Amino acid sequence: MPAQAAVIDGKLVEGPETLDVLDPSTGTLLDRTLRGTGEHVDAAVAAARAASREWAHTPYSERSAILRRIGELIRRDRGEFALLESQDTGKPLAQACADTDVAARYFEYYANTMEAFFGHSLPPNGDFVAYTRHVPFGVTGHIIPWNYPLQIGCRTIAPAIAVGNCAVVKPAEEAPLSVLKVARTALEAGLPAGVLNVVPGLGAQAGAALAGHAGIDHLSFTGSVPVGAAVAHAAAENVIPVVLELGGKSPNIVFPDADLDAAIPVIVKSMLQNAGQTCSAGSRLLVHEEVRDEVLARIDEALRGVRIGPGPQDLDLGPLISAKQRDRVTQMVQRAADSGARQLGGPGQVELPEGGFYFPPTVFTDVDPAQEIAQEEVFGPVLAAMSFGTVDEAIQLANGTQYGLIAAAWTRNLDVAHVMAEEIRAGQVYLNTYGGGGGVEYTFGGFGKSGYGREKGFEALKGFCQTKTIVTKVTR
Ligand code: NAD
Repeated sequence: MPAQAAVIDGKLVEGPETLDVLDPSTGTLLDRTLRGTGEHVDAAVAAARAASREWAHTPYSERSAILRRIGELIRRDRGEFALLESQDTGKPLAQACADTDVAARYFEYYANTMEAFFGHSLPPNGDFVAYTRHVPFGVTGHIIPWNYPLQIGCRTIAPAIAVGNCAVVKPAEEAPLSVLKVARTALEAGLPAGVLNVVPGLGAQAGAALAGHAGIDHLSFTGSVPVGAAVAHAAAENVIPVVLELGGKSPNIVFPDADLDAAIPVIVKSMLQNAGQTCSAGSRLLVHEEVRDEVLARIDEALRGVRIGPGPQDLDLGPLISAKQRDRVTQMVQRAADSGARQLGGPGQVELPEGGFYFPPTVFTDVDPAQEIAQEEVFGPVLAAMSFGTVDEAIQLANGTQYGLIAAAWTRNLDVAHVMAEEIRAGQVYLNTYGGGGGVEYTFGGFGKSGYGREKGFEALKGFCQTKTIVTKVTR
């Protein structure tokens, strides 16, 4: 099987060293990629630099047309993209289809919004006339995780190139295929050579080479807290700004007046989506004492019906990404069970498919808020439930982890809803819903150890630019 090539300077670049890409649904070999090295990263950064002046000066209307065309081609190849993403990550096909639509939307959204992305004229000051312009950084580095490679890849690539940057992207070694396909699709759409370069490879090799590269001007990283801290450190050596999108321990908060018919399916989905390997997974349930028993019984009932199987079979729950991830989740669940938390479902309770890296839905109730399962990201289909009696207790629990990515409050009481929206420390707060249909338009990012900087929405255009002020002295 020939290995998937890197895309550097508009060309497919192969090499002697390769990486195996496993199908998490079966544990067997799915594909291979080039194992990119520091030299490949050097070549990609040089290609991006060489392309950057012309791309930055390409009229907005032309850049916008190319982005729109990339979106069109992703939609044309929706079936191929979705199947590839489902095979590569193990997620159910319908979720991979949704990811593909979101990926296309990023290109469409930024093709539109970039045309309204103006600077400001500044108040007159004597004989000075001044205005600001948003100018691209130049070369942007992008390090992408394996859980939503297509969505997260396009989430940072589209706004970066929309405003005139040239990108060098390092996808995760576990699931690199769809991002490589986006780069080939972009060339077909007419994106000039060098504007989007993708180098697959190991984090410690190609990833570290990119994060510490003196030739990039901005770095966008999505992944775990320890690696995020390490890449920020490496980039700081070159005084390069970084956006970090890291983990979460996001709560669904259920008040006694909540519409449970609406809430329960959404809470279950937020826990199971992508087998819980979602930075914004609803991995904590904070439930009012009055409805605690009913909510837990209904979640338990919903989880009993969950169908588990290979991503392309499009059931409810696919495998975890790797044996390593399954071992990690197994150990965390074991530690929670050992600590005495009451458990619904979990290992040994349901039959799992043969092969692949499957893990059953698991709920811990009566969890001590200080214990690991309530504090640390599991990245598996595992829910930690705790109860509260007052709004203040709910706020305290919601804010009681080191993370702050998203949160949802379920209540019909407008006052309670607004108090929760105000008090919760998270980049996104949802009221009577969780997540927002892909949410391309909704600014996204963390508080605390969930990271810093903002992506998605209009904000991302600003994030990929520097503001330059131009001042003219008028001589009368
Ligand atoms: P990870 O941090 O191990 O890897 C992320 C990326 O960093 C991969 O491309 C990897 O190859 C690369 N990498 C690894 N070591 C590196 C190094 N030393 N230098 C440079 N790059 C390196 O994370 P993961 O296991 O791929 O993803 C899971 C984590 O990502 C979870 O904690 C999850 O919450 C987080 N995540 C956050 C978001 C978000 O938007 N906030 C989205 C998805 C995932």
